[in-house]
Amino acid sequence: MEICRGSRCLKVELIAYSLPKEGDVDRLIAESAAISHAPEFRKLDREKVRHLIELLRKLGHESVFEHASFTFRVEGISRVCSHQLVRHRMASYTQQSQRYVKLKNPKFVVPESIFGSEFEGEYLEILEKASHLYRRMVEGGIRKEDARFILPQGIETKIILTMNGRELRHFFSLRCEKDAQWEIRNLAKSMLKLVYEVAPVLFEDLYQKYIENYP
Ligand SMILES: Cc1cc2nc3c(=O)[nH]c(=O)nc-3n(C[C@H](O)[C@H](O)[C@H](O)COP(=O)(O)OP(=O)(O)OC[C@H]3O[C@@H](n4cnc5c(N)ncnc54)[C@H](O)[C@@H]3O)c2cc1C
Repeated sequence: MEICRGSRCLKVELIAYSLPKEGDVDRLIAESAAISHAPEFRKLDREKVRHLIELLRKLGHESVFEHASFTFRVEGISRVCSHQLVRHRMASYTQQSQRYVKLKNPKFVVPESIFGSEFEGEYLEILEKASHLYRRMVEGGIRKEDARFILPQGIETKIILTMNGRELRHFFSLRCEKDAQWEIRNLAKSMLKLVYEVAPVLFEDLYQKYIENYP
């Protein structure tokens, strides 16, 4: 068995995103928005792109943000976290299956609060026992889809997800907040840092709020 303390095993990669033939994500959004008030499609300079995206955010005309799509590869999160993640419905997900993948050496995310507490020993012992029984059951002929019922929710999972710019902004506004649970908050903040690099205007306000000025 392997233990991940808090979010120490969290790994998030932005593996794909919408890149127009010319320009970048911000320009894709601004130039898409511009057609609503122009007789022809047109190219915009950086200044105009910034101005238009800021205006769209202010007016709440967020449907234009749906033209940009972002795909992430995530590992090192628990199923507690992935369960919260997949509640966001305007997205696409592909998650590692516990029916098809035999977990040779189960990995568990363990909250920081457990370490050093009076419960640490017993907690880790139960994880060890559950992993051991899981392996014995699979080797003894119990199907993986049944043996997995013994595995605690802290079991690590891997997932690929795709969200558009509008849904991502909504996701960040809920999951980067202080009252969001720590694991999904860490995931959301990692995702926000990555998309800010490729769409700095689209995510600027959220980046400032949740990364730069976060208490
Ligand atoms: C701090 C926190 C605590 C939470 N606690 C709980 C809890 O105790 N129990 C629990 O069950 N959940 C809980 N949740 C999950 C929460 O209720 C939502 O399921 C989750 O945040 C997904 O958000 P959403 O529904 O706004 O958006 P998404 O599914 O991401 O959809 C985006 C938006 O699309 C629109 N939309 C999507 N689907 C529909 C639809 N079918 N009809 C109409 N409009 C739609 C809505 O405007 C929605 O806001 C919690 C979430 C947070 C952030």
